Order: sequence, then structure tokens, then C-alpha cells
Amino acid sequence: MTPLEPAPPPDAAPLILFGGTFDPPHAGHAHIARHALAAASPQAWLLFIPAARSPFKSAGPAVSDDARVAMLRLMLADQPRCSLWRDELVRTPAGQASYTIDTVRRLRDLAPGRPLRLLIGADQALSFHRWKDAPTLLDLAPPLIACRDDAAATRDALAISLRDLASWTPRQLERLQEGCFACPLVDASSTRIRADVENARAMLHPAVHAYIREHGLYGA
Ligand code: ATP
Repeated sequence: MTPLEPAPPPDAAPLILFGGTFDPPHAGHAHIARHALAAASPQAWLLFIPAARSPFKSAGPAVSDDARVAMLRLMLADQPRCSLWRDELVRTPAGQASYTIDTVRRLRDLAPGRPLRLLIGADQALSFHRWKDAPTLLDLAPPLIACRDDAAATRDALAISLRDLASWTPRQLERLQEGCFACPLVDASSTRIRADVENARAMLHPAVHAYIREHGLYGA
């Protein structure tokens, strides 16, 4: 099994799974990770898990897996209580989708007995019922949901939207709501960086920006 890099200390809990394309990783990812760690527990530890290809995105990543991993390593060097887990990249045949439920089950095997949480954004929470084996996922790794600045207002708005979906039981709705935490919005997105690296420079860790320049990624 692919190891966590670095291995978290034995008392780290919960382990928070944070999946994404990270094409490239940016300040918004670092920011949401810090807020999730602060909201979860002083012993919490967060795993950046680059996806082979999102089941919800038709196009694959713009750069190689190796490049995304290299950029994540550079950014995570400055990110306390975080590890890189390459499991989805290593286990997924080229061009195929990886599913979060499989990743969660594999982490349970790798770190038995540790509580797990899934980090998602409020927008993802609204489509969470369509994820593969969503109810099981909710049991095994209840989501931490990043809500905008005013967590109370957003939590209420999210609760109404989730209820309107008619996809969750009252108990499941409660669990989803419990996972909301406040996370101020940061103006950063991989799409915008790919469109214009130099203008989006402030969204990038300096070492990641240097790597992009050095390797001529995203037309830089
Ligand atoms: P793309 O623009 O290619 O769709 P992205 O910038 O949204 O990518 P992903 O790698 O898909 O980046 O991000 C993984 C997760 O990171 C997202 O689903 C979202 O929850 C979170 N995220 C992305 N951008 C931000 C941001 N600016 N602030 C907080 N969280 C973010």
C-alpha cells in the first residue's frame, strides 16, 4: 500500500481526506486545509490525495501526475500537519476514475481504528448524494463541509438545500450539518491559474510558481 508522506504521528486523529485534481495546487487548497485542521481537533492530520481523474470532470489533468505530485510536495513543505497520499494515482489504471469510497476503505486498512473525515466544499455537499455509496461514505468518513464566512447563515441555507434534495434521512441531514465549519473565501482557482499563470501568481506558493516556470507548465 502507498505510504503517507510523511507518516502522521500515532495519536493523530481524525485523519482528514482532502481529494482534488490539484492542477495546480494553490493558496485556496492550503487555506481550506488550515481551516479544516483548526475546526477538527488539535490532533487532526490532513491528507492531500491527488485524484487520477475526477469522475465528475470529463477532461483529465492538464499536466502529468508526476508534475502534480512534485508541486504538492513543494507546497506541503510549508504546511504543518499535512501529508501527501498518492494512493489514487498509484492504484488507478491510466485514464480511469478513482472513487472516494474506495480511498476511504483503503485508508481504514492502512490506519485501522483511526477516525476519518472527508473535507469537501459546500457546493460539493449539495451533490454528495450522487457520490458512489454516499450513505456508507457518510458513516465511514463524515464530511467536514467548508462553509463561507458566516457559518451559521450558511449552515442554515445548506440545511434547507440539502433537505430539499429529499435524498437524506433526518439523521443523515443532522450529521451533514454537524460537519459544517467556517472558512472565509479565498480568491483562487486552478482553472484561472491554468488560463494565465503570471496574472495568477499571487495564488501560488513561490516554489510552485518557480516549478511551473522551470518546466514550462500551463503555457508559462
Ligand atoms: P479547477 O479550477 O481545476 O476545477 P480547483 O481550483 O477547484 O480546480 P480542485 O483541485 O478541484 O481545485 O480542488 C479540490 C477542492 O479544493 C475543491 O473541490 C474545493 O473544495 C477546494 N477548493 C478549491 N479552490 C478553493 C478555494 N479558493 N478556497 C477554498 N477551497 C477551495
